[in-house]
Amino acid sequence: MVKGFSGIVKLVFCGIIFCAAIPVHAQTGDLLVIRGGTLIDPGRDDLGVTGTIVVQNGLIIAVQTGDNSTPLPTAQVINASGGYVVPGIADMHNHLRSGMFKPDGNSTAVLSSLLDWGVTATLNPGVPAAEFDQLRNEISRDRSAYPRTFLVRGIFTTDGGWGKGYVPETPDQARAIVRELKAAGSDGVKLIYDDMRWATTRPFAVMDREIAIAIIDEAHRQQLMSFAHAPIMELAKHLLEAGIDCLIHGIISEPVDAEFIDLMKRNNTCYISTLTMFQTNIGYDKWADRLERFDLNRQLNLAAMEVFHNTSSGTARLDNTAWIVEHLPVLRLNLFTVHGAGIPVLIGTDTGIPGVLPGISTQLELVMHQEAGLDPIDVLRAATTTAAVVFDRKGVFGTLREGAQADLLVLDADPRLDVGNVRRIQHIIRAGKVHK
Ligand SMILES: [Zn+2]
Repeated sequence: MVKGFSGIVKLVFCGIIFCAAIPVHAQTGDLLVIRGGTLIDPGRDDLGVTGTIVVQNGLIIAVQTGDNSTPLPTAQVINASGGYVVPGIADMHNHLRSGMFKPDGNSTAVLSSLLDWGVTATLNPGVPAAEFDQLRNEISRDRSAYPRTFLVRGIFTTDGGWGKGYVPETPDQARAIVRELKAAGSDGVKLIYDDMRWATTRPFAVMDREIAIAIIDEAHRQQLMSFAHAPIMELAKHLLEAGIDCLIHGIISEPVDAEFIDLMKRNNTCYISTLTMFQTNIGYDKWADRLERFDLNRQLNLAAMEVFHNTSSGTARLDNTAWIVEHLPVLRLNLFTVHGAGIPVLIGTDTGIPGVLPGISTQLELVMHQEAGLDPIDVLRAATTTAAVVFDRKGVFGTLREGAQADLLVLDADPRLDVGNVRRIQHIIRAGKVHK
């Protein structure tokens, strides 16, 4: 049946659940075959069958179950037998910074290093305006060199509020800025709506509610997603009433109530906990211990770890460590409650905040979701399929289906038993290319 690649060859793969004709066009693009692994697609019910995935021009073109695939001549073959094939991980709150204590401007280096840890999709909710175009251009230069990346240009805050960014004084000004962001190619808007009581004993100012409402409303008119840093429930409810699309720091102030859940469901608002970010605030020394224990392949820079061990808990501006320690169980409980209510949960880390190191923090965030009581497969779903659905890319990434981008990990241990097995990576494939 296989006639080489001088003409159009059709292989028909019919397995138990997948069945696909493979149109292989002559000499176009690279063929990659990943054979014999256990296929785990968190978006499907038929999990865990043995099979083969065929990739061409960066896309999955066929999936065959069983172990009897016909070898394709000229294809690069990965023998995944005994391994587990999963979609790559999405970290949807990542500032593309090193996480060391001094600011650094090398976003593209961080972005590329995320791939080393199996992160194949990410969102930076708050790219400094001056960096935005350059970063966008660099990413589009070679899609296989970086994760699939969504970028939000700048952030909205207020006078005396947390963070540096746009400070509109009226709702009309806020709307005008949102329209500028749309024109500049931003993938959404982000607003800070938080007095930071969880981090500091000297709270910050909170944005005027009418301005927040205008930002969200104008974002929707411009078909932009709205992301909010709003971990205090009473404040988050203001934004939910205005239709906010995603809470990107969970809720830490108190256990979420029925009204909160109803509002989340009404909007189909997504929920990102950033457990790692909150965890680092209780002390860098303990956190460094945990990172070192978790770092199976010794990928961390140990000299950098020394800095962490020698840094005392918190920083001058984040002096409310006692509050965090008391409220971390609430943050975990809320994740469990929100997930149980069927609200879309995504993985995000706030990478770049001191202590939240690229890549390893994403893997640890998955583990911390499991520790909060989620089943490993639900955590994997949050990190793959759900991210794609929320970002309106269902079937485009985060799945092993035909037609999806081939962003895949081959693991040597089963992530359904322990989601921490996402660090046992044999191969990383981004846009069909094997990442070295
Ligand atoms: Zn952030």
